[in-house]
Formats: sequence, structure tokens, C-alpha cells
Amino acid sequence: MPTVRCPDCGAFVEVPEGTRSGDLLECPNCAGQALRVRNDCGQWSATLAYRVSCPECDEVMTLPEDVTPGDTIQCCGRAYRLTFEYGAFAAEAM
Ligand SMILES: [Zn+2]
Ligand SMILES: [Zn+2]
Repeated sequence: MPTVRCPDCGAFVEVPEGTRSGDLLECPNCAGQALRVRNDCGQWSATLAYRVSCPECDEVMTLPEDVTPGDTIQCCGRAYRLTFEYGAFAAEAM
């Protein structure tokens, strides 16, 4: 089974059969983020996909690849501003 290396903790994570380029995998060590995997000519690689939970409803959202602090996300009919601290994103009511 192919594996990718978690960019955050360095652990090898198995890429299950049927995984497609752009899918998200879980790293067993890194609870706050997912791994976005890519297949390039048969070689798998992974980048971090950050997650944030809504301060209102606790729904966990996976942030897009090009997210930057200061961006806004929508949940519960309102917008939240993203902040980045201690290696993780958080959503703050505006
Ligand atoms: Zn990890
Ligand atoms: Zn919400």
C-alpha cells in the first residue's frame, strides 16, 4: 500500500485503495488538520489541509488550500475571520 509522509509530524500514512488526487486523509497523530494528497505520475505526496471548528455549532470545516489568516468563512448564517496561532487556524466572530 502506498504511503505519504505527514508534513507536520513526519509519520507515514497509508493511502487506501481508491484514493484520488485531491482527497483528504487523516494523520493519526495530528488531530487539528488533514492531509490533502496528490498523485503525480504514480507518486503520492501530501500537504497540510487545516481545519477549523465553528465557534457556534462546532462543525469542523476543512479550509481550502490557499487559505490565509484574515480570510473569512461562513457558517451558521454569519461570517468568521480566520486567525492563525500556534500552528493552527481558529475562527473568530466578526
Ligand atoms: Zn501528522
Ligand atoms: Zn456553525
